[in-house]
Amino acid sequence: MTVPVEVPCICEGTPHATDTVFLHEKAPAAMGIAFQAGMRDWLVSPTNLATAQMEAEALIAGVILRFGVVEWTVVDKDGEPLHASPVNIADRLPAGEAAQRVISRGDELYSTELMRPFVEQQRRAMASRASRRPKKPSSPNGQTEASTSVSPSPGPTPLRPSKRSSPTSSAGKPSVVRAS
Ligand SMILES: [Zn+2]
Repeated sequence: MTVPVEVPCICEGTPHATDTVFLHEKAPAAMGIAFQAGMRDWLVSPTNLATAQMEAEALIAGVILRFGVVEWTVVDKDGEPLHASPVNIADRLPAGEAAQRVISRGDELYSTELMRPFVEQQRRAMASRASRRPKKPSSPNGQTEASTSVSPSPGPTPLRPSKRSSPTSSAGKPSVVRAS
């Protein structure tokens, strides 16, 4: 299934009034993978929120154009059908009205699915943060009951003692092997 998007003619020489770009109805797997890879970059090193928003939008636009287009009515200068390859898509859909229409329709089709892993991740992070929030001491005299309770964590595992006890008499000087 494809979804048609009507755009002003994007063929060389503008032989038509309009062209139709057909988008995948659902986000292809490669689109999801590319989007997640891009998101990971700035989720790891988050910049300010405005920048993050802008980068996410640019990322969505990029994966829509790169992976969303199935076919189109675009022809080359001889009137022959032009293959909707990544290079041709970049060439015939530069920044402008036609690209904007494709991106905005693609956004409607795919953004919920593309954002789903991050929304769920966020939800899980918020849930675990809420459950881990330490309780404030409620005793009026400042004493907490926490000192009497048994810690649930097993504590640090003691390091195994080194099997070989190194001699300390040499005061840490490295032994020199003399090549004679
Ligand atoms: Zn055209």
